[in-house]
Amino acid sequence: MAVNGKKKLLPSIKDFTEEELQAQLGQAGEKAYRSQQIFSWLYQHGVSDFSLMKNLPLTLREKLASSYRLSPPSVISTQKSRDGAEKYLFRLEDGCLVEAVLIPARHRQTVCVSTQVGCRYRCAFCASGQMGFIRNLSPGEMVDQVLYPNFVRGVRVSHIVFMGMGEPFDNFDALVKAIQIINHPSGLNIGSRKITVSTAGHIPGIEKFSQSGWQVELAISLHSVEEETRSKLMPINRIYPVKELLAVCRRYTRETGRLITFEYVLLRGINDAPEQARALGKAARWVGAKINLIPCSRFPDSPWQPPERKTIQEFVKEVESQGVVCTLRRSRGKDIQAACGQLAGRNV
Ligand code: SF4
Repeated sequence: MAVNGKKKLLPSIKDFTEEELQAQLGQAGEKAYRSQQIFSWLYQHGVSDFSLMKNLPLTLREKLASSYRLSPPSVISTQKSRDGAEKYLFRLEDGCLVEAVLIPARHRQTVCVSTQVGCRYRCAFCASGQMGFIRNLSPGEMVDQVLYPNFVRGVRVSHIVFMGMGEPFDNFDALVKAIQIINHPSGLNIGSRKITVSTAGHIPGIEKFSQSGWQVELAISLHSVEEETRSKLMPINRIYPVKELLAVCRRYTRETGRLITFEYVLLRGINDAPEQARALGKAARWVGAKINLIPCSRFPDSPWQPPERKTIQEFVKEVESQGVVCTLRRSRGKDIQAACGQLAGRNV
């Protein structure tokens, strides 16, 4: 129907969980099991046309086509890094641009998924933050970032990290639905332990997440355990100070019995001193966290530099002296602006 010259958009069928779809079909007088069949067509066969859902009666296919929209993920560019990572730039229905990255490794194919267009938290080292917040993504828009590599690029995606553009817990309800679709046995059927949500330290989100009872992994972008340094790097620290954040993380590991991962981007002269390493190690031991160290990536106009190799090695040694597990991660896809902190939804 046209309203003021604009065509009214039907709801996207990929925005609904299997349970929601079942309820809607029930209200339309359809059998409950049809929702599983539809899920299987969408997420196990990757179809983008209701007419291809051959085990559904024609009348139901027509009903679906007049009630929901089903568009394929719209990718306007794919870039491949020398190290194998691939970056996809998606154009959404309203013209917004968002990026996802496929990170291939020997035994896993991980997709780094964006949850928002831009981000309100403006972390100093992050290109997404420099854009400011534009809007939240819907569950279907998140799931499309997995469907594209899975069905169009022919990669069997095995792991998901919600670590792309945006703060996932700022878009909590849509995030939960996307996880349910990705995790559902008739959906993408990716196990919850193979899904990681990474937050900049959104305390209410962590608390809600811990009460959910899911087995989904939690990572915290920490980057400093000093209030002043962290507030400069991550303005979210002024809302949720690191002291409180660490206490909430400790409660999380105690209550759930699960480990947290601290992500720590190393920035030369800012957070790479030996005493900062010891403080990080102590905090991780107190919380029950393991640490991923990532030397920072450069992005256009960024003032940040990664530390010298020797400084990084000494930092690792100091952290490990506190008895915690510490991994030095290399950020993938730097040459195509796809590494940690580089995603900015640019059409280049
Ligand atoms: S690091 Fe995460 S929370 Fe910070 S600005 Fe970037 S996307 Fe937002």
